[in-house]
Amino acid sequence: MEIDDQKQQQLEAPAAVPEGFNTDYLRVYYDGKHPGCDQSYVGRREFSFTLENDIYLRFQSFDSAAELESSIKEKCPFKIDIGPVYSVDPSKRHAYAQSGNNVFVPVERELIFDIDISDYDDVRYCCSGADVCSDCWPLMTIAIKILDTSLRDDFGFSHILWVYSGRRGVHCWVCDSRARKLSNEQRAAIADYFRVYKGGENALKKVSLAGPVLHPFLARSYMDVLKTFFEDRLLLSQQLFSSERCQKILDLIPDENVASEVHDKWQGNRRSSVSKEDVNVTRWEQLKTTLQSGKHKGLRRCVEEIVFSYTYPRLDMEVVFVFQLIPVTVMILILQLFRLYHRYGP
Ligand SMILES: [Zn+2]
Repeated sequence: MEIDDQKQQQLEAPAAVPEGFNTDYLRVYYDGKHPGCDQSYVGRREFSFTLENDIYLRFQSFDSAAELESSIKEKCPFKIDIGPVYSVDPSKRHAYAQSGNNVFVPVERELIFDIDISDYDDVRYCCSGADVCSDCWPLMTIAIKILDTSLRDDFGFSHILWVYSGRRGVHCWVCDSRARKLSNEQRAAIADYFRVYKGGENALKKVSLAGPVLHPFLARSYMDVLKTFFEDRLLLSQQLFSSERCQKILDLIPDENVASEVHDKWQGNRRSSVSKEDVNVTRWEQLKTTLQSGKHKGLRRCVEEIVFSYTYPRLDMEVVFVFQLIPVTVMILILQLFRLYHRYGP
C-alpha cells in the first residue's frame, strides 16, 4: 500500500509547465522552429575535396549522405575537409552575390581542437614526426583526458567527439549548439584558457606558471593527471634523466646556481652507485627535494613547470576558428554527421 501511496504522490506532483508558460509557444516551436525543421542546414555545410595533382575543390555541398557518397565515388578525392555551415548553400554563393544579396558568411562550426604528436618531438625520444608508438601515444591520451574534463566541467559542453586525425594525432569536435555558434572572439578566449605555453618554438622555457596560486583548472590537471603520468610513466618510458637527456631538464631551472647544485647531487649519486632505484626516479626526487626545500623562494613553481613542459596538452590553436577547414580521413565521421542530423536535428 505504501507503494501505491508513493505513486499517488508522484501523480499529484506539480506539472512540469512553469507558471506563466504560454502553450502557444509549443505550437510555434513544433511548427517550424525546432532544429530539425531547417532542411537547408546540411546543404549549407561546406566540404572540400583535394583531388589527384593537388586539385583543390572548395565549397562543395550536399543535401544527403547518398549525394555525398556518389560525389566521392565519382571524384575519388585524396583528402576531404569539412568546413563551416554558411548562411546560404556554399555551392550557390556566386548566384547570391550576383543577385546583390551578398549574405554568404560562415554562421556555425563545431569548436575543434587539434593535437599533433609531432608537436611533442622535443619531449619524446622514441619517435619523431608522424611516427607513434605505445611509449609516446599516452601523451595524446592524457591530453584528451585534460581537455575533455575541462570542456565538460568548466565549460558545460556535453556533445564531445574525439577522432583519430588519420595521421599523427587527434581531433576534438565539440558539437553542442552553444559551441557551434561561438564567435571567433569567444573561440580565442577558450583557446587562451588552455594556453600555458609562451614564447616561440625554440624558446627554452616554454611554460611559465605565474601568480601566487595555480589556476584551479591547472591545479586540478596537475594533481589528477599530469604529476602521476610524469612520475609513473613518462619519466621511465622516455628515460628523461639519463645522462644525455638530463641537461634539458636542468635548463628549465632558471637559477644557474641551483641547477648546478642539482647537477652535483646527480653526479654524487652516480659515483656512489648505492642506489638500486632507477636513475630517473632518484634524480627526479633529488631535483624536487632541492627545489622545494624552501631555500630557493623564486623557484617554488619550477617543479610544476617542468611537469607541464613535458606533459601538458599542446594544442594547435589555429583550427578553433569558425572559418577553418578540418581534414577528415575518417569517412564514418561525415556519414555520422548526416545520420545524427537526421536523427536529432542540427
Ligand atoms: Zn614513440
